[in-house]
Amino acid sequence: MSHEELVRRYEAGGGKLAAANAEGLAVPPSLRTALLTCMDSRIDTFALFGLTLGEVHVLRNAGGVVTDDVIRSLTISQRKLETRDVVVVQHTGCGLTMFSDDDFCEELATEVGMRPPWRTHAFREPALSVRRDMAQLRHDPFLLPETRVRGFVLDTERFVLEEVYLDG
Ligand SMILES: [Zn+2]
Repeated sequence: MSHEELVRRYEAGGGKLAAANAEGLAVPPSLRTALLTCMDSRIDTFALFGLTLGEVHVLRNAGGVVTDDVIRSLTISQRKLETRDVVVVQHTGCGLTMFSDDDFCEELATEVGMRPPWRTHAFREPALSVRRDMAQLRHDPFLLPETRVRGFVLDTERFVLEEVYLDG
């Protein structure tokens, strides 16, 4: 049912609205920033940071964690589309806090007969996960040396951001 609803809304004017919203925007994000956050459907990244279209690259995955594919996107974002800063936002009450990587992979293996080739990046404490990911970004050889990284935990009850410091 649900995919029909998306197509229906597109046909009801979504396509026209999207075209109007993107009119005149350059491909490189004007704030030269990439934002990495969770796919959680409650997080309105544009409202949270007062953004409009054309300003940032928004990368979203389960958890808002640094994966090989995030590195791939950030490298392209920097090398070909002029971004420099990276903002990482993970959050309280995330689905990734509700299981452990080992348990998840074990359940999958039991069900389908093999372990996944990827890790879930499950975490208990979002601040520790953000700090770990910031450290990984800082040391990634493919990102530009002048990359500036900031990390935050979003409290999804009060929608308050708490900054995480790599050296703190
Ligand atoms: Zn989440």
